[in-house]
Amino acid sequence: MMAKLTLQPEARGLGMTGQRARDRLVQRLREQGIRDERVLLAMGTLPRHQFIDEALASRAYEDTALPIGLGQTISQPWVVARMTEALLEHGLPRRVLEIGTGSGYQAAVLATLGIEVHTVERIDELLRTARRRFRQLGLDIRSRHDDGRLGWPEHAPFDAIIVTAGGAALEPAHLAQLVEGGILVAPVGGGSAQRLLRLRRHADGVSQEDLGAVVFVPLLAGVQ
Ligand code: SAH
Repeated sequence: MMAKLTLQPEARGLGMTGQRARDRLVQRLREQGIRDERVLLAMGTLPRHQFIDEALASRAYEDTALPIGLGQTISQPWVVARMTEALLEHGLPRRVLEIGTGSGYQAAVLATLGIEVHTVERIDELLRTARRRFRQLGLDIRSRHDDGRLGWPEHAPFDAIIVTAGGAALEPAHLAQLVEGGILVAPVGGGSAQRLLRLRRHADGVSQEDLGAVVFVPLLAGVQ
């Protein structure tokens, strides 16, 4: 079931941040191979411009990553769509952990799909802004200021974990905090060698697929 969003009046209009702009983005995502109608509906509904600085709002529905301050970015819509699609392919997960809240957009997309979302961010200032956005939109998302390389042990296990910053290797804590049958989607590898991996935890081990090349900001240690 889709969550009910509290939209601001301008988000319903026809301008650069209105419904027509979101419809065009959805059309573009379709052309770029995104097939999951649930994901397209969520991204066609959620006001991405409310997750970036007002000065950049007119570019919110371009298919591009944008700066959100403190050296971080909101991911490119196609990447958000592809990762979300990869997470949903074996059925809608009930509880998901996101590592790297950033702007809050990816977490909000998942919550809009009716998923119970937990998200961890290491930069306090970004997390505070994201929490304000969740409140404004009426989205119930659990968040924590911490080093997400450790996952969120107190709330584990999760049906799926999505990592939105790139580490040199997979984090053992993430695989350990999945239910049996659970999915981990994570960018792994340094610089231009970064690959998006999907792993599935089984009773007798882990299976792995390579979903292609990606570029994410680095997964860093400690908090700020
Ligand atoms: N999902 C975000 C993408 C933000 S970019 C969005 O939709 O906007 C990645 C984010 O991961 C940054 O905000 C960065 O501060 C955060 N990050 C990097 N390393 C981290 C870590 N170890 N734990 C938690 N967050 C981390």
